[in-house]
Amino acid sequence: MHKDSVGTEWTPEREKEYGELIQEQMQTGCKSLVLLAIILFPAFSFLDFYTQGHRLKELLIIRLSTTVFYLGLYPVLGRPFLRKWLYPFSLFILTIASLSITLMCLFLKGYESPYYAGVNLVMLAGVLVLPLGAGRMAWAVFLILATYILGILIQSGLKIENPQALVNNLYFLVATGIIGITAAFLKEKMRRESFDRYTEIVRTQTDLRRSKELLQEELHSEQGNVEVLVKEITQKKTELERAINLRNEFISLASHELNTPLTSLSLQTEIARKKMASNKYNNTEIIEKLLNTYSAQVKRLIRVVDDMLDISRIERGKLNIERSQIDLEKVVAGVIDRVSDKFESGQTPLKLISSGPVVGIWDQFRIEQIVLNLLMNALKYGAGRPVEVSLEKSEESAVLKVRDQGIGIPSTNHEIIFERFERAVKSTEYTGLGLGLYISKQIAEAHGGSISVESELAKGSTFIVLLPLNL
Ligand code: ADP
Repeated sequence: MHKDSVGTEWTPEREKEYGELIQEQMQTGCKSLVLLAIILFPAFSFLDFYTQGHRLKELLIIRLSTTVFYLGLYPVLGRPFLRKWLYPFSLFILTIASLSITLMCLFLKGYESPYYAGVNLVMLAGVLVLPLGAGRMAWAVFLILATYILGILIQSGLKIENPQALVNNLYFLVATGIIGITAAFLKEKMRRESFDRYTEIVRTQTDLRRSKELLQEELHSEQGNVEVLVKEITQKKTELERAINLRNEFISLASHELNTPLTSLSLQTEIARKKMASNKYNNTEIIEKLLNTYSAQVKRLIRVVDDMLDISRIERGKLNIERSQIDLEKVVAGVIDRVSDKFESGQTPLKLISSGPVVGIWDQFRIEQIVLNLLMNALKYGAGRPVEVSLEKSEESAVLKVRDQGIGIPSTNHEIIFERFERAVKSTEYTGLGLGLYISKQIAEAHGGSISVESELAKGSTFIVLLPLNL
């Protein structure tokens, strides 16, 4: 392994790559040499005609047979088997040219003939057209010169009568050979350097292409990230807008819920005052009726305010659960008792199915809240049809079910109705704040239990509360 002047290391693989390139150039070079021979050998007949008219016939025969020989050689050059033998083949082409010129010299005063200049041309053609290094060129020079020198020595029978002419010609031939070898050395050096630059450019191009691909990939994934981000932001924006809308709706509903009983209270107080002034309240029955109405309105107010207080407790994580041993059957029966008059006035039958006491360690007040919420919803959304409360025990939980046959809930809303402020009905059709189920869920979960719904639109709903029996 060695370094060239550009500083590149020549590994065996690199040497192989370079060798392949040289082989291609060698093939082109050989073809060019043969073509040059085919053109120049006959073309020089004009010179023969002017300068060597007395030997025209012999020279023409040599020239034509050399041309025919090269013509026959040309098609062989494309053959694949020759790829490995291109260098010896190039030497062969040059030697034949040298032999042909030597033959011509033999007919023209041997070593004294000026046609030795043709041998010079053969050497120059070799160095200019073929991609030879100094060593290979040296062999070419040797063969070209040896052919010529042997030819004239054989012809002269080693009797040199005009040594000045021989020395003169050989001098020029050897000088051309040296120039040829030097030129081949320099050309080889330049060829290797330009090969280095060429491979450097190819490598840079490949690196650039790879970087471009990487950048594009990066850009693509960045674009993907940005798209995901935009999607997330849009989703968050929609969620926020929905939350704001819900809150606004809640504020307006809550104001309404608070305002209605207050207005009614204020009106009734006014009426009572007038009736008292005209002494119409002389009967305790009337007074009792009045107080009942007051109490109902106040209870409604307290319920709304309680729900709002619970929400704020839940948000602050301060929903306290005060456990004690209770019988769920009794608790449910108690709540049913409390709401029975409402069911009666709504002409909605209500029944409890229970197989006996279900005892657990729960917060009675909060459990009552769940049962009350579910019963009031069953009354509100139950379309006046019978409501059934069932209580049973599974292996680990108390199972409370409140089933109505009312408007039902589409499956898309089964989860969402347990969220804060969420409602699946129009506020113009049903009053409410969308808090009851949210609070019930928080209470059930605070007990380690759960609440869920099974329902179909227009086919009624069953709310199922699971409360763990053991802590
Ligand atoms: P509110 O009843 O005050 O709106 P809830 O949190 O109790 O709030 O209920 C949330 C929503 O769930 C209701 O608005 C209603 O759309 C739906 N829902 C609750 N109970 C029932 C039921 N028994 N039948 C049909 N829909 C119900």
